[in-house]
Amino acid sequence: MALKPYVEALADLFYPQRCVGCSRRSSDVLCRPCFEALPGITPPLCRRCGLPTAFEVYGCDGCRTVELAFDGARAPLRYEGVGKGAVHALKYGGYRPVVERLMAPLMAGCVEGERFDVVVPVPLHRTRFAKRGFNQAELIGDAVAGMIGASFLDTLRAVRGTRDQVELTATSRRENVAGVFEARGPVTGRVLLVDDVMTTGATLNECARVLKTAGAREVQTLTLCRTC
Ligand SMILES: [Zn+2]
Ligand SMILES: [Zn+2]
Repeated sequence: MALKPYVEALADLFYPQRCVGCSRRSSDVLCRPCFEALPGITPPLCRRCGLPTAFEVYGCDGCRTVELAFDGARAPLRYEGVGKGAVHALKYGGYRPVVERLMAPLMAGCVEGERFDVVVPVPLHRTRFAKRGFNQAELIGDAVAGMIGASFLDTLRAVRGTRDQVELTATSRRENVAGVFEARGPVTGRVLLVDDVMTTGATLNECARVLKTAGAREVQTLTLCRTC
């Protein structure tokens, strides 16, 4: 008789969680080995685009000639391994404890000691929202706002859908998101714009542009992961 499924079902009552990095049963959202294997992004960094550099600079060889609407980009992790696992657990698995236990603390650590007036999430178009049932950026942004003592302001709206960005080049990504977002009202002060992943930065850049037009003085982006 195969006892294993029963034993596992029973164990689920006591350890309902699985590690988001390796899927093994764990007493928290991440097991110890996966915690130690977090693909951290460490200084020195370019304070403008957020990529690792040889020395800390504002504007590196990679971003100096690129026009950016945001003033800085932060992310605690690279989009690989355990970092990717955490994003997928939330976005495609709907596993929400990962927000409070892992994502928000790591992200808040990136902006420790700084003051922001508002935390704004990157919006999801309503058709995608309907399909997924939640906006991961909103869940993350709300938790981060609580941790850093800033107000949460869900002011951006996606006025039309976009093509999936995955297959697009950097230039077509920018075209793909142009005019997609609008702000529901005026925005003031220093803004922390939050999403789960930054790839080319096209979406964040367009959101930052809209926020600046709405009155934001400064826009810093914060994502859990980024491709480096
Ligand atoms: Zn693990
Ligand atoms: Zn740079």
